[in-house]
Amino acid sequence: MRYSQYLLPTLKETPSDAEVVSHQLMLRAGMIRKVAAGIYDYLPLGLRSLRKVEQIVREEMDRAGAHEVLMPMVVPAELWQESGRWQQYGKELLRLKDRKQGEFCLGPTHEEVITDIVRNDVRSYRQLPLNLYQIQTKFRDEIRPRFGLMRGREFIMKDAYSFDMDDAGADRSYDRMYQAYRRIFERCGLKFRAVEADTGNIGGSSSHEFMVLAASGEDEIVSCDSCEYAANVEKAEIRSAGQKAAEPGAPLEKVLTPARKTIEEVSAFLKVEPRQLIKTLIMQTDTGETLAVLLRGDRELNDVKLCRLLDCAWVEMATEDVVLKATGAPSGFAGPVGLDLRIVADFEVQAMSDFIVGANEKDAHFTGANLGRDIEVEQFADLRKAEAGDPCPRCDGLLEVWRGIEVGHVFKLGTKYSEALGAKVLDDQGHERTLVMGCYGIGVGRTVAAAIEQNHDENGIIWPLAVAPFQVLVVMLNPNDEAVREAADDLYRQLLAAGVEVLLDDRDERPGFKFKDADLVGIPLRVTVGARGLKDGQVEFKERAGGEVRMLPLGEAAAEVAEQVRKGLGL
Ligand code: ATP
Ligand code: MG
Repeated sequence: MRYSQYLLPTLKETPSDAEVVSHQLMLRAGMIRKVAAGIYDYLPLGLRSLRKVEQIVREEMDRAGAHEVLMPMVVPAELWQESGRWQQYGKELLRLKDRKQGEFCLGPTHEEVITDIVRNDVRSYRQLPLNLYQIQTKFRDEIRPRFGLMRGREFIMKDAYSFDMDDAGADRSYDRMYQAYRRIFERCGLKFRAVEADTGNIGGSSSHEFMVLAASGEDEIVSCDSCEYAANVEKAEIRSAGQKAAEPGAPLEKVLTPARKTIEEVSAFLKVEPRQLIKTLIMQTDTGETLAVLLRGDRELNDVKLCRLLDCAWVEMATEDVVLKATGAPSGFAGPVGLDLRIVADFEVQAMSDFIVGANEKDAHFTGANLGRDIEVEQFADLRKAEAGDPCPRCDGLLEVWRGIEVGHVFKLGTKYSEALGAKVLDDQGHERTLVMGCYGIGVGRTVAAAIEQNHDENGIIWPLAVAPFQVLVVMLNPNDEAVREAADDLYRQLLAAGVEVLLDDRDERPGFKFKDADLVGIPLRVTVGARGLKDGQVEFKERAGGEVRMLPLGEAAAEVAEQVRKGLGL
């Protein structure tokens, strides 16, 4: 591709409405343009990277035995009514009507449509296992589209769906997808973790998210420093130390803590560590219960764990008037002594003695509080948010904390959709069996954005070779110099002939300007052809990721660079 004839509109300034690096750099490198909130044009350079990811995904899905299909983006309401999701799905579902008043939605995901294909065309166990996938534009009317391709409203997703006769088969399909996903993100050249994810109230038994590690990631994840355990922090378990508390050593005493409400304020005032306090959280559930949750003072509650313990859909901090009614004091002074509410506590609390709690009285706390003697806890459970250094639930290792971007998700669906839509086959005994499903998504645009979040510097993008829009950039330093033009053109053609994807910067611009664009656009390998080097029959070779400039003899440059590309791709 010749830059002079290419649509690659780079920007000097960082667009003011772009908050994260990938969004800024994709705009500045002329990859995308905004059309409406969360809706983008993919310009030629951007599309090339998307296609790279798609191609890797396609090859690995095919290798794993899945078959590509393409379902409509516009989906009739009837299918969604059959599954019940027409009512359940929130405003993310864009509903529309055709000229005959028929109701439709723009597909945010395609369980219903795929299940419809399978119930109509798959009849026998002999046709199983079956895994069908598509790479397609999805629409989710996200409440706050942001961060460019990271959280769009219209975005490209690969979604796959597996169908098996029984749970054992579904487990095998799930494992195959899990392995395929590992290969996909490895081939993309990304640092990632596959983490155990909460299955939420969608049900389903098991789920993993594939997280690209990046400081800007929206998700927090943990992984063990010595075994394979990794999980979204929402789900991350913590091994309970199983310690018993020491015998009470101090009497229960009320102390004044005027206007000291937070753990920090109270501990500073009483000159103790926050870990000597117990945090009493008054919580409300969607089922209408109000209860108290106890945590060590320096810990945070994990809502998802509490929901699982209570078997409810959501929990929230009780409002001020509820706290006042339940404890008799304004919030900041709640405590478990004499409290007339169900009390659950984190495992860690079990090991505490002579601690400090709120006294359910304005401006007062108790010191010397102890379980059993002063406080009746109904149940101990793993309720707190995992932190760096916590014990791994699977081995003796310690947990590390990372930030990640969810680029892929594999999910055991069970029979939710096959039951609702009646997708059954006959087994070898002639009995009808409801199919067991799995679903597997990869955000194609989000993967490209995540690659940039993980690989950039202050000057621009540093593409991993496998997802780079071009592999090699040839910079023609002075296009008006006959010898330079000829040598650069020649090199360009030789690289093309060797099957290398190359962009030739043949613009009549100053060298500094071209190098700035080169760093911004981030093509991994750069060859510079200039008059000075050519005098000695040489060109300059440099990697965007860093390292020395190397001089290559002009005659060997194409072969050498093509070899670097092959090596870089692991071929
Ligand atoms: P999130 O939690 O980030 O909202 P999700 O869990 O709802 O995503 P899934 O239904 O699991 O998303 O979709 C599969 C994949 O599609 C995700 O792993 C992600 O890579 C991608 N994806 C989901 N929503 C968006 C979006 N709004 N913009 C871009 N990619 C998305
Ligand atoms: Mg997900």
